[in-house]
Amino acid sequence: MEFRDLKKQYQVLKPEMDVAMQQVIAAGMFIAGAPVKKLEEALACDAGTTHCVTCANGTEALSLMLMAWDIGAGDAVFIPDFTFFSTGEVVAFRGATPVFVDVLPDTFNMDPVKLEQAIVRVQKEGRLTPKLVIAVDLFGQPADFAHIIPLAKRYGLRVLEDGAQGFGGSMGGRTACGLADAGTTSFFPAKPLGCYGDGGAIFINDEQTAALLRSLCGHGKGSMKYDNVRIGVNSRLDTLQAAILLIKRKAFWQYELDAVNCVAGWYTARLADTVKTPFIPDGFGSSWAQYTLRLESATQRDAVQAKLRAQEIPTMVYYPKPMHHQLAFAGLANVETPCPVTETLCQTVLSLPMHPYLTEAEVETICNALKAAL
Ligand SMILES: *Cc1c(COP(=O)(O)O)cnc(C)c1O
Repeated sequence: MEFRDLKKQYQVLKPEMDVAMQQVIAAGMFIAGAPVKKLEEALACDAGTTHCVTCANGTEALSLMLMAWDIGAGDAVFIPDFTFFSTGEVVAFRGATPVFVDVLPDTFNMDPVKLEQAIVRVQKEGRLTPKLVIAVDLFGQPADFAHIIPLAKRYGLRVLEDGAQGFGGSMGGRTACGLADAGTTSFFPAKPLGCYGDGGAIFINDEQTAALLRSLCGHGKGSMKYDNVRIGVNSRLDTLQAAILLIKRKAFWQYELDAVNCVAGWYTARLADTVKTPFIPDGFGSSWAQYTLRLESATQRDAVQAKLRAQEIPTMVYYPKPMHHQLAFAGLANVETPCPVTETLCQTVLSLPMHPYLTEAEVETICNALKAAL
């Protein structure tokens, strides 16, 4: 059994995929070919933004956005303590200071109450300027932007949606990646919409910033490629990956998003009486980047994981370590916030196999093994 079955997905998409990849190779336009623009237009439409700028990966997408907004030394950027490393890495990489904010125990997403406490604390300390909130759509479910955005505005902060895991999620009928001042996503193969390598995208409604991002992605280009008006980076999505994503995107909206929601329903129906299953609040939709349970303790979680592994059922721990415990942030972060919820989650979460091609029989097998292990 696979944790996320990309081979099965390829078998389903193979006829169309092979033709599309061959077309790119035959045309010889490996960089900035027609599929890149076509994909950007389609993705902007999905997220409900006027612009989508593709780039090399989800980390670069975040980084580019921080460059465009000129986030740097002396700035405080508020990020959840429970996330993938990139969210904080890009902040420190720009020389700004990540401030870790605890998450909600049921949705795993940034806690707006703790966010306000952190902003007030940093303001009082007076050493850093609060500039930005990066809220993460963890495991496929959008963060609580309905509360985070008005709160951030009250303190004059921008909000960036890290939708690396969020593509396809929704909040109040609006789709993820377009829920804040800007949004980013990742096309890493295991994400809800993944390519066959690395890729990323930025979503934004403001024309001027979109143009700046396009310049930053291309070595700070001005009127043309060999006119460089600022220091930028080389960050782009290959034509081949764009062609692959055009096909995957179609499958995603046609049936994969429904399929993962169906799988989540099968799990929850079988497990809700036994363990803490994921919670999706009213008005929210998840694209199920992960299906994550909360167990009683680290001991129980690790024992369950070992028992499932013995039956060749793969599970994962996302994430075993709070951001504020990462050695890389030692001396670089503002770590005064205690984050007890994140500490507990890191000890107790367990993610089960999740992808659109899981069958109900496989879910049954996993649930029976899990219940026996408990
Ligand atoms: C995967 C991920 C990223 C980084 O994306 P890459 O394409 O791997 O660089 C950033 N943030 C979160 C929350 C992620 O899960």
